[in-house]
Amino acid sequence: MSERIRRLRRLRRTETVRRMVREIDLRPDDFILPLFVAGGRNVDHPLPAIPGMRVLSGEPLIEEAKRVRDLGIPALLLFPIVAPEDKDESGSGACRQGGAVQEATVLLKKQVPEILVITDLCLCEYTSHSHCGVLKNGEIDNDLSLEMIRQAALCQAEAGADVVAPSGMMDGSVAVIRAALDEGGHSSVMTMPYSAKFASRLYGPFKTATNSAPGESKHATHQLDIANRRQALEKISQDVEQGADMIIVKPDLTSLDIIAAARERFSVPIAGYNVSGIYNLVCAATADNQCERVGLMMEILTCVRRAGADLIITYFAKEAARLLGR
Ligand SMILES: [Zn+2]
Repeated sequence: MSERIRRLRRLRRTETVRRMVREIDLRPDDFILPLFVAGGRNVDHPLPAIPGMRVLSGEPLIEEAKRVRDLGIPALLLFPIVAPEDKDESGSGACRQGGAVQEATVLLKKQVPEILVITDLCLCEYTSHSHCGVLKNGEIDNDLSLEMIRQAALCQAEAGADVVAPSGMMDGSVAVIRAALDEGGHSSVMTMPYSAKFASRLYGPFKTATNSAPGESKHATHQLDIANRRQALEKISQDVEQGADMIIVKPDLTSLDIIAAARERFSVPIAGYNVSGIYNLVCAATADNQCERVGLMMEILTCVRRAGADLIITYFAKEAARLLGR
C-alpha cells in the first residue's frame, strides 16, 4: 500500500526545500505605493483614515519619494487632497496646471526622476458633489465627463506623468485619453485604467481620507456590481482594445477570480489594487501582534500575485519592500 502513495509532502517538509520550489517570489519591483499630495509648501501631516499614510508636498514629498526609490519600489500612484473651496460642480481643478497632483508630478520628475509617476485621473476628488463625473439632471453624464477627463489627462501629461490612470469607469475614457495624448505630443505616456472597479465597501477609509464620498448608491451607477464577473472581463477587454498599456483590478482580494481570468485572456500587465479597507482590516486585526501583521501582509500580497497580478498597488509597499530587502 505504502509504495503506491505519491508522497507530495517531500516537497513541503523543510524550509529549505519549500524555499527552493516556491512558485511566487515577491519583489519590491512588484509594488506601487499610493501617495496623497496637497497644494502648498512643505505639507506633511498624517491621514488618520489610513494609519501610517501622510499628506505631503514639497520637501517632505521629495524625501518620501527618495525613501521609496531606495527601497526598490518603482512607482508612485498620486492622489490629491483638495480643499473644499477648490472644488466645483464640474471638477475643473483636475485640469488646472499647478493643481496638487500636477505640482507634485513636476517636482518628483525633477528631483527623483527614476521613480515612475502614475497619476490617478478622476473628477471625484475635485467635484463639490464628490461624484466621479459631471452631473446632468442629477446623473453622471458619461460624455460630458469624458471631455473633462481628456483635459485632465493632457494636464497630467504636460506636468510629466509617466502613466495616467483613469479611475472613474466612464465608457470610452481610454480611447479618448489615448487620442488626446498622441495628438498632444505625449505618445510615450502610458494609460493604466481601473478597468475592473467594483462598487465596494472596502473603499471607505480612502473616501474618508480624500473627502470624496457621495454615497454608495451613486457609485452604483458606474462601478461594477460585485456579483458580475462577465461584465468585469468585458470592461477589461474594451480597455485593452482601446489601447490600455496596463490594467487595474480593484479591490484585488475580493477579485482574485477576475485577476486569474484576465491573466488567461489578456497579455497586458495586470495590477491588483490592495485597497484601504483591506489595509485597515489587517492593521486592526493584528494591532497587538507585529508578527501576525507581517505574516498576513505577505500572505495576502503573495496570493494576489499567485492569482496572476504582475503588480500590486498597496499601502503595505514600503513595509513589504523593507522586509524583502534588495
Ligand atoms: Zn472617482
